[in-house]
Formats: sequence, structure tokens, C-alpha cells
Amino acid sequence: MTRRPLIAGNWKLNNTITESTDLAKAIAEGAQAFPSVDVLVAPVATSLHAVASTLSSSKVFLAAQHTHEASSGAFTGELSPPLIKDVGCSHCIVGHSERRQLFGETSEAVGAKVVALLAAGVTPIVCVGETLEEREANKTLEIVLEQLSLGLGDVDPTQVVIAYEPVWAIGTGRTAAPEDAQAVHAAIRAKIGHLAQGTRILYGGSVKPGNAAELMAQPDIDGALVGGASLKAESFLSIIEAAS
Ligand code: PEP
Repeated sequence: MTRRPLIAGNWKLNNTITESTDLAKAIAEGAQAFPSVDVLVAPVATSLHAVASTLSSSKVFLAAQHTHEASSGAFTGELSPPLIKDVGCSHCIVGHSERRQLFGETSEAVGAKVVALLAAGVTPIVCVGETLEEREANKTLEIVLEQLSLGLGDVDPTQVVIAYEPVWAIGTGRTAAPEDAQAVHAAIRAKIGHLAQGTRILYGGSVKPGNAAELMAQPDIDGALVGGASLKAESFLSIIEAAS
């Protein structure tokens, strides 16, 4: 089975509404040259409504960066899957290492969010990845596969996108060697089992125009989750081109 590549941009806590819509417009225009690649952007929450409108006539997907698992209620400051759907998102990132490390998001919470997102008709992008300490202790697969099994629970894996993001490679300029990333992707695919051929597994961690092509060339890497290099249309479009 051929899986369509997906290049996803995580804008994190960056960009005003105007900066977000300008960037979204430039990406949507540029991405038309690469119709074989699915493209997604995840703006800051305050820009979601405006970017949804900017992207309405494009094929670029829109994602939220975070959600609570509840639909509504006394959860000050939170977003919910039905509201994420309502604002125009097709996807939502869950389990990003920054949420795990800075905001205490556990794999069990990720599992609850995945179920809630699917119930609301939003595709979860489930992030997994090991710290440098865990990698050096040869625990990469143990950690990643445990995060995956708690995060996915019993859901159909073809309904989610998985992002393997080694924590030590995020925002650091260090990237996993393509063959090391491929080994983890292959282990994730093996763990998923018979539905794995239909499941997209993205790589994330300092993906840039200069290293995207060799990462994308790996058989089990189906695209990228890009942080820093997604904040400029030019570099993000170069990564999209590398995946095409
Ligand atoms: C990310 O935030 O998911 C990420 C991979 O960031 P960066 O590309 O900046 O390492």
C-alpha cells in the first residue's frame, strides 16, 4: 500500500493572527505545486479561526496543538475536541513532548484524548519519543512502544497519525540518523500489526530542507512533523518538495 506523505507544521507558541494568516496563505499557494503531498499546519489557538478561513479554499489541513479530553465543563483555559472540530480543524496534536514534559501530559491522558478526538471526528496526531537519557540507556523502543500502546489503546491505528519525535532532537538542531529513525519507525509499524500498512508514521525533530529528503527516503517514514522550519513558508515548502 502506498501512503500519501504528510508534512505537518507545528507553529507552537508563535505568530499573531495576521502573521498566521500570511504564513498560511503563502504555504497554501506554494503547496499547490506538490499535489502528491498532504500538508497540515497547527497554529496557536488564537489564530485557528482566522487560519481556517484563509485555508477554506485550499487542501491544507488545519490542526490544533492541544486538547482536553472532556467535551465541555469546568476546565478553565482548555480546548475540547468538539470545539476544535467546530473551529475547522481536521487534526489535533496529542502527547507532544513539550506537553508531556512541561505540562504533565501522561500517556494515559493521551489515550483518553485520542478516544475523545475520534468521537468528535478529529484525527489525532499522536507523538511519541524517548529522551536522551532513555536513548543512552538503550530504552528507546521500550519507551516509544509503551507510549504508543497507552496512547492508542484499542483504537483503529489507521484512524490516527503517529509522530515519532526523539525528545533530544526537538528544537536542538540534532536529528536522528535516517537509519536510526527508520529502525524506530519499523518497530512502531511492527507493533501496530496487520493494520500498519495503512497508518502514517511521521518523523519529527529538527527536520529542515537540508535533511528532509534522506529522512523521507526511508521506507517507514511517511512524512514529517516540523517545528522551527515550519515558521517560514520557504523552508516549509522546501520540506514539502523533498517529500513529493
Ligand atoms: C516539534 O515541535 O514537533 C518539532 C519537531 O520541532 P523542531 O522541528 O523545531 O525540532
